[in-house]
Amino acid sequence: MNYKEALQHPVFRTISLAAEELQLEAYVIGGFVRDFILKRGNAKDIDIVAIGSGIKLAKQVAKNLPNKPKVQVFKTYGTAMLRYDDIEIEFVGARKESYSEDSRNPVVENGSLQDDQNRRDFTINALALGLNEDAFGKLLDPFNGIQDLEHQIIRTPLNPDITYSDDPLRMLRAIRFATQLHFTIEAHSLNAITKNASRIKIITKERIVAELNKILESPKPSIGFLLLEKTGLLDHILPELTALKGVEEVEGQRHKDNFYHTLEVVDNISEHTDNLWLRWAALLHDIGKAPTKKFNKKVGWTFHGHEFVGAKMVYRLFKRLKMPLNDKMKFVQKMVLMSSRPIVLAQDIVTDSAVRRLVFDAGDYVDDLMTLCEADITTKNPKRFKKYHNNFKIVRDKIVEVEARDHVRNFQPPISGEEIMKTFNLKPSKEIGVIKEFIKEAILEGDIPNEYEAAYNLMLEKGKKLGLKVIGND
Ligand code: ATP
Repeated sequence: MNYKEALQHPVFRTISLAAEELQLEAYVIGGFVRDFILKRGNAKDIDIVAIGSGIKLAKQVAKNLPNKPKVQVFKTYGTAMLRYDDIEIEFVGARKESYSEDSRNPVVENGSLQDDQNRRDFTINALALGLNEDAFGKLLDPFNGIQDLEHQIIRTPLNPDITYSDDPLRMLRAIRFATQLHFTIEAHSLNAITKNASRIKIITKERIVAELNKILESPKPSIGFLLLEKTGLLDHILPELTALKGVEEVEGQRHKDNFYHTLEVVDNISEHTDNLWLRWAALLHDIGKAPTKKFNKKVGWTFHGHEFVGAKMVYRLFKRLKMPLNDKMKFVQKMVLMSSRPIVLAQDIVTDSAVRRLVFDAGDYVDDLMTLCEADITTKNPKRFKKYHNNFKIVRDKIVEVEARDHVRNFQPPISGEEIMKTFNLKPSKEIGVIKEFIKEAILEGDIPNEYEAAYNLMLEKGKKLGLKVIGND
């Protein structure tokens, strides 16, 4: 392979020149080189290592660039960053690292390129290309990273036990890369991750979630979650999921393994949506099943109210992982809460009123909810599989039809509370709520259309039954 091709962007010549001017060595290293070899598209993040000051090199590069970009200096880390076109270029001086037991932040000293490659997490992330004139495009691959790329293997440059213990975030990175790239984690590494799993506790929640998100955004997230489970990491990070593992049998009745079922649902939904939060909803849609599981002689296994319990668990889980407690969380909660609704529809004859209620309750989320429920069909019985999908198709068609006719999405009552008060000369009172609810129910049931006149007449009728008098009609 001609690695010079990776360095076609003019900025590399600028860096090369700046390195010559400062008389230091410079290399492009890590993800950019890896992704070029894997042909993973144009990388927008470039990491440069200088043997010497990375900050000085960054400033020299900025000076030589036509638009003189601003250099952001991170003194504590000895790094600098600049943006050129839409590329983010990060500069660091080559370094040697030593770790202590309780922190993933090492003590750092200046080092050689080899030292710097030693501190990299994986062989495939330690590949470097020379930028100096006499070595422009020359590959430096001390750990056979190229071979590991060919064999699709995640391996640490040094002893994996030490690598993972030093910085436990690397355990999640290993699993994340295995998921994104569809690579295998080499056996010693996998053992070392299993051994060091509990060290994940020194990693901040934000970093853990960033890796979980990348796993979830991969084409087949189950690869990552199975590895997280196998190594014991999942128990530390998302015990709500490992609690779903296992099949219990009482009196010959078994329930399905909801952990593996969940992973199937996540993979299914990932074929239909890139919405991270919908994928989170798929991951969490059954978490209420562990605490609500019961066996009953007559009906077998039940999970009564698991959607409601699950939705409450979503809040606690988001809070614990320091995830946003905003509309994203509310969206996931709503999906979990409503996750069984369309299924019930799909098992039965689909009536207009049931669909109208679904649209009313789900509001703008109704399409996402349908996508989740379709992904939830994991039955291995082809007849049932077909039947459920066909019924969902009917539900989807009915949603369009009902919406066009009845406008119940983001439902606004055709008669306001104020109008009810005026009509019957009422002060704020219980009766207003009763009448409003009665009108809403009639619309959802399809007894009256979602229109002013019909609703007005119904209001008069209901008011009369409640013993109310219409003003001016004495
Ligand atoms: P991606 O952009 O997909 O996350 P990347 O490899 O570019 O992939 P970065 O997090 O940007 O990931 O890291 C850049 C490089 O820094 C990596 O390729 C690796 O060489 C090194 N690196 C990052 N994090 C660590 C770590 N925790 N331990 C050791 N090396 C690391």
